[in-house]
Amino acid sequence: MNFLPLIENKREGKILAPEQILEFIHEFTAGKIPDYQMAAMLMAIYFRGLDTTETTALTLAMRDSGDVLKFPMDKRPLVDKHSTGGIGDKVSLPLAPLLACLGFRVPMISGRGLGITGGTLDKLDSIPGFQTLLPAAQIVEQVQRVGCVICGQTDKMVPADKKIYALRDASGTVPSIPLITASILSKKLAESLDALILDVKFGCAAFMQTKADTLKLAKAMVALGNQCGTNTRAILTDMNTPLGRAAGNWLEVKESVACLERRTGVAPVSNSKTRNMETGKMPVLRCDDLRLLVLDCAAHLLVQTHKSKSLAAARKLAEVCLNSGEPRKKWDEMLVAQGADLKAFNRKLALDSTAPVTAELKSAQSGWVSKCDARVIGEVIRDLGGGRLTKESAINYDVGVDRIAKPGERAEKSGALCRVHAADAVQARTAIARLKTAFEISARRPAPAPLITDIITASVQE
Ligand code: URA
Repeated sequence: MNFLPLIENKREGKILAPEQILEFIHEFTAGKIPDYQMAAMLMAIYFRGLDTTETTALTLAMRDSGDVLKFPMDKRPLVDKHSTGGIGDKVSLPLAPLLACLGFRVPMISGRGLGITGGTLDKLDSIPGFQTLLPAAQIVEQVQRVGCVICGQTDKMVPADKKIYALRDASGTVPSIPLITASILSKKLAESLDALILDVKFGCAAFMQTKADTLKLAKAMVALGNQCGTNTRAILTDMNTPLGRAAGNWLEVKESVACLERRTGVAPVSNSKTRNMETGKMPVLRCDDLRLLVLDCAAHLLVQTHKSKSLAAARKLAEVCLNSGEPRKKWDEMLVAQGADLKAFNRKLALDSTAPVTAELKSAQSGWVSKCDARVIGEVIRDLGGGRLTKESAINYDVGVDRIAKPGERAEKSGALCRVHAADAVQARTAIARLKTAFEISARRPAPAPLITDIITASVQE
């Protein structure tokens, strides 16, 4: 193929034909287009963009660059959730078993963390014996038998994205809405889903920091997912404050189990505003935000697959299921299916900390927590060794921050605002000093910031 005229056309802002896109993705995956030419095309796309037809063609070509999971006919719909990532975002862990108990099949193909945002696979790697690299046949078998799997992409799934993402990373072309859309959706569509809920985050610790950019990305992904035949919705969620009360790989697994067992760290702050599930205007308790987001993701999927008629009814159904304890049992079943040593896991769960040192950050004054900066907390955890600076970095699964006080909660002078888990005392001290900048205490209680600000469905694009 002569790729140069296509690069020149895109450089001049011309539209590429779907067959041209299909061909160059095929040729690039086969190693027949050099990286420097593909990097030039990516930069042309970065500046000129892609229209909906081009983005659809790119997404489908990337999906079909490798294996697509094939499931037997079954009355249980195939569903998944994707989050654009944040601090303390462990929703996938309790959500997968909850969805399985609600009668779904969940082939949850997840990723690793890079930089300050955590990755689901890294969290799961902190569970003794748990395997995240499974062949396609085992993924399908487990989904059919257990109802859910959380694992990594196989070598043969979406190889075009793997190659293109590495080039984007090295060529400054990651923040492009059509490229992000195609990258995320090509991987999700390779799961052969009936329905997908996207948790698109905005705020200081999110991939997209402004609400306007986040909305644009969410709308693009919802439009494209639906166009490609998967019922796709998005919720926009606030990532200025960490989700839940713990961040760091093992600490997040612990909090996920607590969520499945209906335990929360500290008593919730009451929220006087009425939740309106249908309009998308939803003030939400920030201290119980993990549970609420898990339930909302499940509720949307119940509506998307016509298992529930309204979000209110779906949420109730999800809540009853979560409270039944069945998803907690399903979690253990999933762990065993993926090779975990359940006895060792339970022994680890019983420990207050698995890190050598813990230290508390004490509040200098009494008042109300008005800020708890997720970016600072994410950077502290990364520097404690809990995240990666490069793809090759080794991870310390035991470090992190827990018992996090959330905006709207009362702080007492000398009371704890959070607790650090560190590899040694020096690192703990450094972390505590930096964490002081993450919190603000004010004399007046701040108004609760809604966790979920918008719902984007195929029919509601504005
Ligand atoms: N996550 C992905 O998988 N791809 C992107 O392009 C950005 C985030």
